[in-house]
Amino acid sequence: MQSPQEILKSVFGYNEFRPFQQEIIEHALANQDGLAIMPTGGGKSICFQIPAILKPDVTLVISPLISLMKDQVDALRANGVETAFYNSSISDAEKQEIYSKAVNSQLKLLYLSPETLVGGIDWLQRIPISMIAIDEAHCVSMWGHDFRPEYQQIGQLRKHFSNVPFMAFTATADKITRSDIIEKLALEHPSTFISSFDRPNLSLAVRSQIPKKQKEKEIVSFIKQRVDEAGIIYCLSRKETESWSNFLNSSGINSRYYHAGLSSQERDAIQDGFINDQYQVICATIAFGMGIDKSNVRWVIHNNLPKNIEGYYQEIGRAGRDGMPSDTILYYNYRDVVLLNDFVQDSEFKDVYHEKINRMLKYAEASTCRRKILLAYFGEHLTEDCGNCDICNDPPAFIDGKIIAQKAISAALRSKEQLGINLMINVLRGAKTIEIFEKNLDKIKTYGAGSEYSFKQWQHFINHLINQGVFEIAYDENLHLKVSDLGKAIVESKQSIQLTEFSEKTTKSTKKKTSDKAGDNEVLSKLKAWRKEIAAKNKVPAYVIFHDATLNQLAQDLPLSINDLADIQGFGKVKIDRFGSDVLGIIKNSSSKISTYEKTLLLHEKGLNLEQIASERGISPQTVMNHLIKLFEEGKPVNLYRFVTEFEVQQIKTIRKKLGNTFQLKPIFDGLSGEIDYGKINAAIAILEKQKKQIN
Ligand code: ADP
Ligand code: ZN
Repeated sequence: MQSPQEILKSVFGYNEFRPFQQEIIEHALANQDGLAIMPTGGGKSICFQIPAILKPDVTLVISPLISLMKDQVDALRANGVETAFYNSSISDAEKQEIYSKAVNSQLKLLYLSPETLVGGIDWLQRIPISMIAIDEAHCVSMWGHDFRPEYQQIGQLRKHFSNVPFMAFTATADKITRSDIIEKLALEHPSTFISSFDRPNLSLAVRSQIPKKQKEKEIVSFIKQRVDEAGIIYCLSRKETESWSNFLNSSGINSRYYHAGLSSQERDAIQDGFINDQYQVICATIAFGMGIDKSNVRWVIHNNLPKNIEGYYQEIGRAGRDGMPSDTILYYNYRDVVLLNDFVQDSEFKDVYHEKINRMLKYAEASTCRRKILLAYFGEHLTEDCGNCDICNDPPAFIDGKIIAQKAISAALRSKEQLGINLMINVLRGAKTIEIFEKNLDKIKTYGAGSEYSFKQWQHFINHLINQGVFEIAYDENLHLKVSDLGKAIVESKQSIQLTEFSEKTTKSTKKKTSDKAGDNEVLSKLKAWRKEIAAKNKVPAYVIFHDATLNQLAQDLPLSINDLADIQGFGKVKIDRFGSDVLGIIKNSSSKISTYEKTLLLHEKGLNLEQIASERGISPQTVMNHLIKLFEEGKPVNLYRFVTEFEVQQIKTIRKKLGNTFQLKPIFDGLSGEIDYGKINAAIAILEKQKKQIN
């Protein structure tokens, strides 16, 4: 039997497991029940796919999302794994065919939607099942944020399949949900695996109380800096998704809207168009995204405050699944909070919901590293600030806020706490508006007391006073600002307060970062064009063929042989067989290829060693070695003796002779008891071959 590590390499083309993947896989192989909690994009699928491949029979995967199933099945098939899905979207004939394959153990994985279980369990009992994996397991719990009644059927399964191991997977971590999942699914002595929720490649930024026009400007400029890079804008209402999408289209950005009010055909078409890079932007309610596994979503913007941190984290997690740098921005204002609280007012769980909204707001209002706050919510504690959020990038400077606070508080008190934010600012600045005169606000003592600050500055200060609990917003009273006990203590000078300085922030932290490892652009665009063609031919999304990360690495490393291809992430055996020669052809035919070799040569001539060249160029030491050998063979001034000693070359020569002057590395490596590494063997062969030619 192959090891999980070997399957990871040969089927999926990856070199290393991510944290916990191996433990979870081994646990599953030992036929134990388990619960794995990993963030979106953390790599859950492989945790049940690899055991499924290694186990003799069929692994059932229960997943609530039909489109996600289809994606995973396509991706597995592209890697040569026998897989099918069974749900309401397929014909009876297909169902029959799939069922008979399953019964005969001709499938490694069978994806099922939970509704298919409702019809009864008898038919499943004829399938030889080696494991049952439950994806999005939080759907079974009322405490999760996405309860689905169909999921309750799964609990019944446990009774009928008492010898089959159950593995549950979710990206939702809070403790009640966790124990609820274990109970509802009747997991037996499950081990729980909680992987890090950190997604360091996602930048985090929050923009508070930005007027609509400015927001539009910011978002358009943000998107225009990201040519062809796909992203999602999440909105609270259907109407907003439509107006944003129309606005973006009129600004020359290719966008569509998506919400539950569209027919399912319309929704599928939009989703497919997004997956296949036909539409750059989707403006959507949170109905969108659950079912997509598009790995190259490069950014996510929230147009409103999300209703809980779990949802927010899952939504931003749809960006950058391929691990490449991706940006997220959250826009919010206090109206959002009113709306969100209204939504849940009649729910029997309203207290839980209010608390979740509150935590979300606290995050948005924070003035310390955002990632620390997010991870702390999921029970993880970063020891250092992240360096990739707006706060870390532009830490706020603090000033003594006593006088500012006192002015604002007294304005509130003197007007009987009947001021919303804007009206308060107008009072403080001594504005001459009809509302002020009608309400006689020009008569109070604080009128005009804050005219030294601009409207925006006051907005900033008042937000901050709200954040610190000096004012409370009366959500049920037109958003009037009420003075808290803390506020009263400040007016009486019993308490001091610090405020952050106002700075005219741009979307600084989210300016496009141009990677310093850009790779060969010509090769990259050729590879993308080729991928698009193949994807269309196979009727699958482009990323099922290869992820962006794979194409980027190809353009960077410019591999020239099948051997080199195996070093590229995402190139498993099946893909090397299917696409290897196409890809190599594209790289070889591309004119700028020489430059990467020349760059390596230049650094070599400067005297850098392998590791130094590798890190300078952002490629692997093996690739550098391959470059140098190629250059050496072409007669370029490369001194391979810098990497292998004359004595080692002689050792290799001797053993190689015994092996019939083989070019295969492994027998030589083994013959030398593994004491000389592959890089050196490669170099020695090149030296020996050249000597042979020179003698002839
Ligand atoms: P989720 O946890 O959201 O289900 P996926 O299973 O879809 O995440 O994995 C996210 C991405 O990470 C996929 O593109 C997958 O191929 C990739 N991935 C998973 N495991 C690894 C690994 N060990 N090395 C490199 N990439 C991986
Ligand atoms: Zn940070």
